[in-house]
Amino acid sequence: MQTMKAMVFRGVGRIVLEDVPRPVMSEPTDAIVRVTSTAICGSDLHILRGDYGVDEGTIIGHEFLGVIDKVGEHVTDFKWGERVLVHPGFRCGTCESCLKGNPLGCQKGGVFGNPTAFGSLNGGQAEYVRVPLAQKIMHRIPEGMTDEDVMLVTDMLPTGYFAAENGDIKPGDTVAVFGCGPVGLCAQMCAQLFGPSKVFAVDLVEYRLKMAERLGAIPVDSSKVDPVTRIHELTDGLGVNVAIEAIGTPATFYGCLQAARLTSNISIVGIFSEPVELLMPVLCLTNKRITMGLPHKLPEYIPKLLDLIKAGRIDARPIITHILPLSKGEYAYDIFDKKLDGALKVVLKPGA
Ligand SMILES: [Zn+2]
Ligand SMILES: [Zn+2]
Repeated sequence: MQTMKAMVFRGVGRIVLEDVPRPVMSEPTDAIVRVTSTAICGSDLHILRGDYGVDEGTIIGHEFLGVIDKVGEHVTDFKWGERVLVHPGFRCGTCESCLKGNPLGCQKGGVFGNPTAFGSLNGGQAEYVRVPLAQKIMHRIPEGMTDEDVMLVTDMLPTGYFAAENGDIKPGDTVAVFGCGPVGLCAQMCAQLFGPSKVFAVDLVEYRLKMAERLGAIPVDSSKVDPVTRIHELTDGLGVNVAIEAIGTPATFYGCLQAARLTSNISIVGIFSEPVELLMPVLCLTNKRITMGLPHKLPEYIPKLLDLIKAGRIDARPIITHILPLSKGEYAYDIFDKKLDGALKVVLKPGA
């Protein structure tokens, strides 16, 4: 049996580099991708902390791209050797929910490196990965684009774009994004596509605020000032038209509610680990519209984002702060988790 290196979940607090069997084709709709770049996501840290109930032994990672090593006979649009990026997960496309155009209701799909209806699905923080329903969830990487050019299109940029789109930003609007991690930074960049007059970026980690500023936002350091007060000062006492929550804590959610003006949109993409209390009468009387979710229109978003990158309208490369060999995977998790060494997006290179 051929083996490979992979980052494997071994219980709470333990995602470790191991030698594991190489994946093999199991369906004619599969592909095997040789991973050339894979990133660690904030949601992988939830797995590390035991929040998602991933089976022990699962290979982690839903943000990856690479080169096609094998294609099943039903994967007719792709061939060996092509460079592809892969959706973080897949829907079956054949269940009642999928057929009715409601893929979010699919019970037979799953996310790589996460629990699914049929057991945990091995992810892409590995040298090779099996991609089910490959025809539907792979996109060719356009000629001339590097792994780093497109790495964040695997998850962060679609999520940021979805956050901005849900915020329904109009030209001239003011926007506040709570959170300057990779999702928050992508939301700030995507918000700019909709023509706001100002995008405020709230965080308490200095290097993350610096990156937000470099990418065009106005930093608000919540370790030094009350961000709600500051945002009201900077918006003539009104608050912003759109607030985006990109962390997933009650404090940042309430910050969004208070930073947003009367009649405004609050768009949530942060992943919460604890409940929040909603004061319904206040929300109602202040006309605050709350939207949330995960990007479900990847087949539409991904080509659009690739075009925007090609046209120079978005450049997420600065968010990649570390490129390390997969053999340094445990160190990579550590610096990302503890926000050490200026870590934002940490990319691992299998085979390096
Ligand atoms: Zn992710
Ligand atoms: Zn389905």
